[in-house]
Amino acid sequence: MAQLRKWIAAATLGTMAVLIAMAQQRARTSKPPEPDPQIAAAVKEVSPARVKATIEKLVSFYNRSTLSAADEAAIAKGRGIGAAREWIRSEFERYSKDCDGCLKVEMQGFTVSPPARRITHPTEIVNVVATLEGTDPANAGRIYIVSGHYDSRNSDNDNTTDPAPGANDDASGTAVSLECARVLSKHKFPATIIFMAVAGEEQGLYGSAHYAETAKAAKLDIEGMLNNDIVGGNRTPHDTMQQPQWVRVFSEGVPAAATPDEIKLIRATGMEDDSPSRQLARHVREVAEQYLTAFEPKLVSRPDRYLRGGDHLSFNEQGFAAVRFTEYREDYNHQHQTPRIEKGIEYGDLLKFVDFAYVASVARLNAAALASLASAPAPPANVRLVTKNLENDSTLTWSASPGGLATKYEVLWRPTSDSDWPPQNVEAVGNVTQATVKRSKDNVVFAVRAVDAKGLRSVAVVPLPER
Ligand SMILES: [Zn+2]
Repeated sequence: MAQLRKWIAAATLGTMAVLIAMAQQRARTSKPPEPDPQIAAAVKEVSPARVKATIEKLVSFYNRSTLSAADEAAIAKGRGIGAAREWIRSEFERYSKDCDGCLKVEMQGFTVSPPARRITHPTEIVNVVATLEGTDPANAGRIYIVSGHYDSRNSDNDNTTDPAPGANDDASGTAVSLECARVLSKHKFPATIIFMAVAGEEQGLYGSAHYAETAKAAKLDIEGMLNNDIVGGNRTPHDTMQQPQWVRVFSEGVPAAATPDEIKLIRATGMEDDSPSRQLARHVREVAEQYLTAFEPKLVSRPDRYLRGGDHLSFNEQGFAAVRFTEYREDYNHQHQTPRIEKGIEYGDLLKFVDFAYVASVARLNAAALASLASAPAPPANVRLVTKNLENDSTLTWSASPGGLATKYEVLWRPTSDSDWPPQNVEAVGNVTQATVKRSKDNVVFAVRAVDAKGLRSVAVVPLPER
């Protein structure tokens, strides 16, 4: 009997130990953070009516070809790309007036002369750039960018006289950038946000390439770029396959800027699915779960649509993390087409095919992502996975998140064949720069992220091997 009592006591103690261990395990698992009130408020301010007014105005410039007239007379008449960019500048300046001059508005111009792809005469290409400087000097150097291209085209690259409304491609993306500027300029963020409208996209990404090259030369710390191109939600009558609750988010796997040695390392460690751009795309999805209802980013593990391109690739080329947002299903009769009716089919990138509520949802997603990224701590630096001994535990080391906003760090892991960080695979490791996890690096992919006192998280960083 005494023996039995002893055994029951031991068993109870054992059960308790297991329960305590389970509770500790649960405590170490991170719940999705509560939505930040400032970010939620900014997202709420996005207005479908404002998005509609912006797209209508851009379409009113008739033909926004990069090659179209930009002289005083054309601007006075409200025709062509020159008039469009003057109007975009005036919009940014108007938002800035409402926030005591919080936006620095600039025109970044440069001239491209033939011979150059699809440029038939010397052409000034101008990016319109509005900067909301970060309020924390230790974090203001960190930059997040949202961009759309305001140039348009019709069936013929050189045609500047027939209509090229470009309502979807890409007045919709330009409207996302402007609407983000309007709602986010009413708030303050520790890091810097840049709102852009670029030109020369249709001729070969000239505007974005110039911006990204200039930024690289100036050693700007661009931590993420969101490119919105064709986010109009295309409302072709009788198209039953459009998904108005989804937007695609494209991201590169192997970075365009990786050196041959880096590509060798990516191959050797199986990191083809873990570029900084891919982590940015995953972060966007996490933000969507926190701040949006009934609207969802669908991640596509590919730099862009099959063998096609966009302005985010200009940033990838320079080594910056950048992703592309595009509606779920495109209608090619409504892109790059001179408006006309042929054999009963209506061609043209017309206003009536744009779903303004959809564009507003994409703007909310961008605003939430930008606000979240610019509020959260910088990602930890120099993240490494120690490999000098063969062992089944895994030790990670890193340098503290620059800028001092982090109060703790989290180690994430996922099976190598999964393409997302499962929310339960998180271990909070405290305010440290080293952690040992009881999991084998052979079987999972690890990452480390920085977290602040409010639970705002940085983008996850996958380690390089430390030998
Ligand atoms: Zn486009």
